Amino acid sequence: MADLAEPEFQVVSDSPPRGGKFPLRLEQMARPPKKLVSSPGEPLALAAATASQPRSAATLRSGANAASVARPTGLGLDSEGVRRNMVERLRAAGPHDARVLDAMAAVPRHLFVDAALVTQAYEDTSLPIGHGQTISKPSVVTRMIGVLMDGATARAGGHLGRVLEVGTGCGYQAAVLCRLSRHVVSVERIRGLHDKARDLVAPLRMNHLRLVYGDGMLGHPPNAPYDSIIAAACGADVPEAWLAQLAVGGRLISPVLDTASKQKLVVIDRLDDGGFQRTEYEAVQFVPLKSGSI
Ligand code: SAH
Repeated sequence: MADLAEPEFQVVSDSPPRGGKFPLRLEQMARPPKKLVSSPGEPLALAAATASQPRSAATLRSGANAASVARPTGLGLDSEGVRRNMVERLRAAGPHDARVLDAMAAVPRHLFVDAALVTQAYEDTSLPIGHGQTISKPSVVTRMIGVLMDGATARAGGHLGRVLEVGTGCGYQAAVLCRLSRHVVSVERIRGLHDKARDLVAPLRMNHLRLVYGDGMLGHPPNAPYDSIIAAACGADVPEAWLAQLAVGGRLISPVLDTASKQKLVVIDRLDDGGFQRTEYEAVQFVPLKSGSI
């Protein structure tokens, strides 16, 4: 994978993508899955593995330093110290990947929550962002991105490569992903949230982030294949489109419905022969993945 220092595309809000800034890779679309290998019960050992990886965050910085462009809130929450405290609590409750913790320390979460909730911005809790949706818990963001960092391509390159996020919400996780990736495409089905995310990430100048309004259950074929795919909403299973858009060596992480009321995290790795290996992780709680856009 290429060095992260030269971002190729900009914060845009379009569907389909504008030409020029972001090369279309339709010809590189991955073929449909050949086989599906399930390995249930292979467990959380990965969390410990990610925590012991060497720190290489310095090589992962790209775009503006998010912390340095934080707008003052008048509540003192724009100080790096408050964020660092959150990260120290996450670290203590870990294990977590140190590179992901560094990214969490750099993104001003308080800028992504409504003014009335800003005092809770650095607590480990999900918070409402409007339209019945929520900003994910910091520990869950850290955990899921950490697991992605242990996929084959990400391990080899030291970053997440080309990323697809399904469920932009207010854009917080997309901003964290940007610090660990070459390119990020994030899809949101609710127009009001897509617009909100666009406004919130704009001051952070994440010039390798593409925000797309549309149905993320279809993935985003124009920029496929992706080295890393992450879903922030829970469906009955992983859509075929995501598998088709996952690059060889790539890793996907998503909540899926287990029983009627329970959700669990599922990780799918695309193997060298084009097949898939599925691993189930811990129980989680996400908003539902819905088809169509509104
Ligand atoms: N990534 C967010 C979490 C947002 S909550 C964060 O940074 O905290 C999950 C989001 O997924 C919601 O905004 C919801 O509207 C969106 N979503 C659900 N189904 C979707 C779909 N099919 N395509 C795109 N977004 C979807």
